[in-house]
Amino acid sequence: MKIITLGTSHGDPTYCRHCSSTLLQLSDDMGYLIDAGAPANALMIRKGLQLTMLRAVFITHQHEDHMGGLPGVLKTLVKYPKRDGATTDILLPEQSGIDATLAFMAATGRGWPPELLTFRVLPSAACCYADDLVRVSTLPTEHMGASPSYGFLVETEGKRVVFSGDLHASFRDFPLRPGDDPCDLCICECVHYRLEDALPKLKQLPIKRMIFNHIGNAWHGEDNERRFRELVAELPFPATMAFDGDEFTV
Ligand SMILES: [Zn+2]
Ligand SMILES: [Zn+2]
Repeated sequence: MKIITLGTSHGDPTYCRHCSSTLLQLSDDMGYLIDAGAPANALMIRKGLQLTMLRAVFITHQHEDHMGGLPGVLKTLVKYPKRDGATTDILLPEQSGIDATLAFMAATGRGWPPELLTFRVLPSAACCYADDLVRVSTLPTEHMGASPSYGFLVETEGKRVVFSGDLHASFRDFPLRPGDDPCDLCICECVHYRLEDALPKLKQLPIKRMIFNHIGNAWHGEDNERRFRELVAELPFPATMAFDGDEFTV
């Protein structure tokens, strides 16, 4: 499988990064989108990727930097639909996110045959999606306080890939624990906690490889990137800072 970090910024776009969206690609015409920060559809198109490949879109939490590009993704999906008419599942943490998205689509005059899109509210701490290729489970975080927010465990091709989603400042909700089944790849946000404080905890965890995304301004620029690389070099597994458009084979 391939992980493509389409957009890797934190809450705001920066001079070199767009907001969060990551594609998990299993083949040329099969993929899953984790978060849809703007401009997720444009970033896929620039990569030469057809949005018709999307079997499902998972939104970790309802902050604008994670779902602001969802209307664009949906517009492309319904304007240029899959030839076989198969549905794309759109999974959001709350009904309010579904209602707001549908209202935006209606306000912009965009209709579609109902079978093209299936909207669902994510269940907490359970398998939220399964097809013949992947199984996805929600991993609750404390990022949104009283409102739901999630990381995801994706199991596919005999591998386990964890997406942290956005986290609490304490890092206590990082969704892996010592003794958990090994995780082949963890894609972790990097702005709501102090990296220096998280490293000792991460060293204890059954992670084989790590990609940091959701990169804050403090890590922008050559000197800061170098300092970041020096810090994560302490980890007992490979760890990388992602940039927009990077591709990782797992
Ligand atoms: Zn965020
Ligand atoms: Zn957030």
